[in-house]
This record gives sequence, structure tokens and C-alpha cells, in this order.
Amino acid sequence: MSLEVGIVGLPNSGKSTLFNALLKRQQALVGNYPFTTIEPNVGIVEVPDDDLIALVDLINPEKVVPATVKFIDIAGLVKNAHQGEGLGNKFLAKIREVDAIVHIIRGFEAADVPHFYGNIDPKRDKEIVDLELELGGIKKPTLYVLNVSSDSYSRSGNMKTLQECLVVVNAKTGEGVDRLIKAAYDLLGLITFYTIKGGNEVTAWALKSGSTALEAAGKVHTDMAKGFIKAEVVPVGELLKIGGWTKAKTLGKIALAGKDYIIKDKEVVEFKFNL
Ligand code: GDP
Repeated sequence: MSLEVGIVGLPNSGKSTLFNALLKRQQALVGNYPFTTIEPNVGIVEVPDDDLIALVDLINPEKVVPATVKFIDIAGLVKNAHQGEGLGNKFLAKIREVDAIVHIIRGFEAADVPHFYGNIDPKRDKEIVDLELELGGIKKPTLYVLNVSSDSYSRSGNMKTLQECLVVVNAKTGEGVDRLIKAAYDLLGLITFYTIKGGNEVTAWALKSGSTALEAAGKVHTDMAKGFIKAEVVPVGELLKIGGWTKAKTLGKIALAGKDYIIKDKEVVEFKFNL
């Protein structure tokens, strides 16, 4: 079961545009994933990862599987959504099912895109949606995203009033989307570990921070957890610097870990198990 991020915001804040920008990242991995049957408002999005790219350069595997985050485009919330306004109850019910929220706030001006409340005012908009979420009983980690267009970016004095805004994107051009994906991944409390299966398959696995080697093994395969003997671990940066697993082993840089070992972000792990 993968963790889910719901995109919320006022109508015309750019939710669908952002979702489409995210989907462009999904297309890159369609070959690796049987996700073709997924609903149109759900996107499995590759987490940008320079270390994975470097690891793939080093290993040159036949297959690469990146870590992913699941985004869901949930339709717009308006004032009094918690009382059912604008199908609000239906949308709030969907929001209750996700693990984290990306709250998109309109910061772009566009004469041809009417604002639901008449003018651009990110602080007001944020408060309207926050209040509806609160009244709807939703307490979820939230990432605030200000959606700006390149021209309004520089002259948007409004931005200053929005201190909590963590990520700025231009949903139309996709600028800032990589940062948003990484921030959502962090918000979900996920870290990444890597496996190199027989030198021909490199996988980046999303793992809840604080998980043990045994739990990590279970992500890869239930058999690996059942027959777990030990894990061999090395930080990916170290492995890249040394230039190969065997060499790293010779140099004594591969550590042995038992089943209770807490996996750290960016470790390359080889599980030893018997069946
Ligand atoms: P939603 O109702 O929140 O899903 O909003 P949409 O994504 O459908 O966007 C509403 C309109 O705003 C569309 O015509 C988009 O092309 C436009 N739009 C979205 N983001 C931007 C942006 O960053 N800049 C500009 N100029 N227009 C945008």
C-alpha cells in the first residue's frame, strides 16, 4: 500500500494544471509499472533522485525502478464546503483518506481565469481552505504551494504575506515541481534505500523513516523478511566514491546490520536470507 498525497485548493488555483505537470513525470516510468488502469485523477510520480541517477551510471543495470509518490487530484474546496457547499462533503471525505495534503494557493494573475473570490489574495485564500479543512475535522500534514506565473512571480507582493508557503511552483511550466515532489516525500516521512539485484536491477525504495532492516527486507520481498539473516549496508555516497560494491567490501566499508538495525536515508542495502 503506497502513501497518498491529496491536492486541494480553491477552484482555479491551478490544481489540475499542477497535477498534469506531475503526470509528465509519471510518463517517464510507464514502461516499468503496470499502472495503466489507475483512475484519471491518480498519478504515481517518480521522486527526483540524483543519487539514483549516479548509482545507475555506476552499475549500468538493465532495469531501474525509482521511488514513487501517489498524488490524487481532489476537486476544489470553497467556503462552507464542510456544510456541503460545492460538493464539499464529498471532497472532504476524499481528503480524509489521504496521508498528506498539498494545498495549492493561487498567486498568478490571469484576466481570462476568474478568481472564485474576485481578486488574487493568497493569504485570504489559504485561510478559507484551511478553515474548511479544520471544520471538516481534517488534521493532516500539509504542504503549502504557491502557484505563480513567471510574470507575476517578480511583482507578487502577495507572496510576502504568505510566510508558511514552503514551495513556489509555476504549475503551467512545471517549474518547481521537482522540489514539490521531494517536499511531499519528506512530509510523508519517507526515506529512500537502494537495492542492486544481481547487478542488473537497481531499485530505490520508499521507506517510513525509523524502519528496521527487517521491515525494509519485507518491502522488497516477504521471503526476504521471513528468512532474514543479515543486511549489508553502505551509504550510497560512499559506494559512488569508491566505485563498486566488491571494492567497498575489500576496503571494509560495507557494514553488517541485524534485523533491528534502523535503515538510514540513502543507504544501499543487500539482504542475506535463506528459504
Ligand atoms: P483548478 O480549478 O484549481 O484545477 O485550476 P486549473 O488547473 O484548471 O487552472 C485554471 C486555469 O488557470 C487554467 O486555464 C490554467 O491554464 C490556468 N493556470 C493554472 N496555473 C497557472 C499559472 O501558473 N499561470 C497562469 N497564467 N495560468 C495558470
